[in-house]
Amino acid sequence: MEKHISVCPYCGSGCKLALLVENDKVVGAEALDGVTNQGELCLKGWYGWDFINDTKILTPRLKKPMIRRTRDADFEAVSWDEAIAFAAGRLSEIKKKHGPDSIMLTGSSRGTGNESNYVAQKFARAVIGTNNIDCCARVCHGPSVAGLMVTLGNGAMSNSICEIEDTDCILCFGYNAADSHPIVARRILKAKEKGAKVITCDPRFIETARISDQWLQLNNGSNMALVNAFANVLITEGLYDAEYVANNTEGFEEYKKTVAKYTPEYVEEITGLKAEEIRRAMRTYASAKTATILWGMGVTQWGQAVDVVKGLSGLALLTGNLGKPNVGVGPVRGQNNVQGACDMGALPNVFPGYYYVTDPEARAKFAKAWGVASLPDKVGMSITDVPHAAEEGKLKAMYIFGEDPAQTEPDLAAVRKGFEALELIIVQDIFMTKTAMFADVILPATSWGEHDGIFSSADRGFQRFYKAVNAKGDVKHDWEIYGLMAKAMGYDGIDYHSTEEIWNELISLCHLYTGATFEKLAGLGYIQWPCPDESHPGTPWLYAGDKFQTQSGKGLLFASEWRPPLEKVDAEYPLGLCTVREVGHYSCRSMTGNCAALTTLADEPGYVTMNPIDADKLGIKDQQLVWVASRRGKVIARAMVTERTNVGVVYMTYQWWIGACNELTVHHVDPISKTPEYKYSAVKVEKI
Ligand code: SF4
Repeated sequence: MEKHISVCPYCGSGCKLALLVENDKVVGAEALDGVTNQGELCLKGWYGWDFINDTKILTPRLKKPMIRRTRDADFEAVSWDEAIAFAAGRLSEIKKKHGPDSIMLTGSSRGTGNESNYVAQKFARAVIGTNNIDCCARVCHGPSVAGLMVTLGNGAMSNSICEIEDTDCILCFGYNAADSHPIVARRILKAKEKGAKVITCDPRFIETARISDQWLQLNNGSNMALVNAFANVLITEGLYDAEYVANNTEGFEEYKKTVAKYTPEYVEEITGLKAEEIRRAMRTYASAKTATILWGMGVTQWGQAVDVVKGLSGLALLTGNLGKPNVGVGPVRGQNNVQGACDMGALPNVFPGYYYVTDPEARAKFAKAWGVASLPDKVGMSITDVPHAAEEGKLKAMYIFGEDPAQTEPDLAAVRKGFEALELIIVQDIFMTKTAMFADVILPATSWGEHDGIFSSADRGFQRFYKAVNAKGDVKHDWEIYGLMAKAMGYDGIDYHSTEEIWNELISLCHLYTGATFEKLAGLGYIQWPCPDESHPGTPWLYAGDKFQTQSGKGLLFASEWRPPLEKVDAEYPLGLCTVREVGHYSCRSMTGNCAALTTLADEPGYVTMNPIDADKLGIKDQQLVWVASRRGKVIARAMVTERTNVGVVYMTYQWWIGACNELTVHHVDPISKTPEYKYSAVKVEKI
């Protein structure tokens, strides 16, 4: 049996594993001693590989290019030459007629590597001439990037996943580690075993709450009020590090004024927490020698998410928990390469390496390297802008790479309407996803296991993964497809022969990555950016010497007033709906839904969890089929009645085709990051 080094394609924990191969077929996986997983895997790592083999459990692998000549025609399998000519010809026509900004592209945060994301954004900018490229960071940790960029000057995790277990206090805020990053949850458990205090802020009694010293069951939608009250306690009780604040931060006086109102007593009604619980949590956090804050979608998928991220970084700044090992701020990225898609510039405002598209020097540098006269200077569109822009006629075409917005965006009826208004949809993927069903052109790509490259894990760690088996079907690597498209549109600058060639071009252009060479990353190699030169070992923790990457070099303290969620419950829709994760499945489920072992864990329709008090009122029994309806749609789900869920709010996971919770979710976004408020929509639940 052969063993090929790889990195798990699911969450951002970056677990290193070996794919086991017999007769050119993947037959298993085993854990390797990677930096973040240290010989351990969760169930997705152990059992999440057989989708490569085209099991067809949920949906078939795409094995031939396909086109639809008209919207009501069937898909027609065609040669690569015909598919590329058709797609490139239509894109060129739209560009000529409506301009480059009438085209939107996506990067992919899943099992595709950094190299393909680098090439995707190069195609968008150098060939199409637009910054309209975005990735799933928009719907997950976009607010973390936006908030931390302002307060600390870097949008990524400040410290490393493996440091978590040596931290003295872990504040998990809106972060269900056990379901979203089981290996991070393992690090939290190990810290607890070593004597760390764990504080969990979450409306549900999640697994981390079970092992916590303190569980703060805050009301949904009260994050900002609680974070302000935390700051208020640190200041009024003199628990903050006054010297650190004086030397290393700015904005303290204004910040102090804003949080003054948010006494623990003042926020009792908003948060549903007792003032003494809030005080106790901050006394624990501030008295720990080292403390870290980890957060997830419970912080970021709100209309006020950027403000809350700024508030959380304020807690770390007030207590001096930055710039050294085992402390920090940790927005733990969800998908396995969402950090990488951002690192590679699959975002509307930055080039690879986080150079701003609005910076003339950066534009000139990339234009010269890519052999074009100029590059677009206007910040592009976000993926959450798509439905409205399409309906308004501003957007005419989408080139969707390894994402499934028809399953994962909010208010799916609006997404479908937007798709129908587009003149052209190109989908480049490995599966016949719900989005692919809307496509005019389908370009089938090689899967994880069939290609090689480099991923970025949630803590800025680059790791190589290797090809294990030959591709099945008439498919091509993502970066090769962009090369063919570019050539057909008259551009020769995407003519690569290997991922190493692409990587070398990237690192030559980005000082953050220059020293992370292919060679240094060989085997189990792990390098966390910044890594500015070949002799540099990488950076496990940021802000050494308390130097922040803001313009002034100081950390910014910034507080905001609390705002309630946009959509209100009322007599017709009396319950809140919050979307959440489940451990056995991943994202839109196109990969895990095609893995035999994982599909036995849960089956359609998706479920809606509710508290027994709400269920009793409605006469609903555990496991009963119910309707869940909002102002936007109605789906069937299976009721799961549990006391772990708080009263007044129901919870659904978002990967199910039957019981798709995004038929119900509201399209309300954070004004800065444009991230949707997936965590609160008004619904009703009825017996069938
Ligand atoms: Fe590790 Fe995440 Fe993969 Fe589980 S899903 S094995 S925690 S990378």
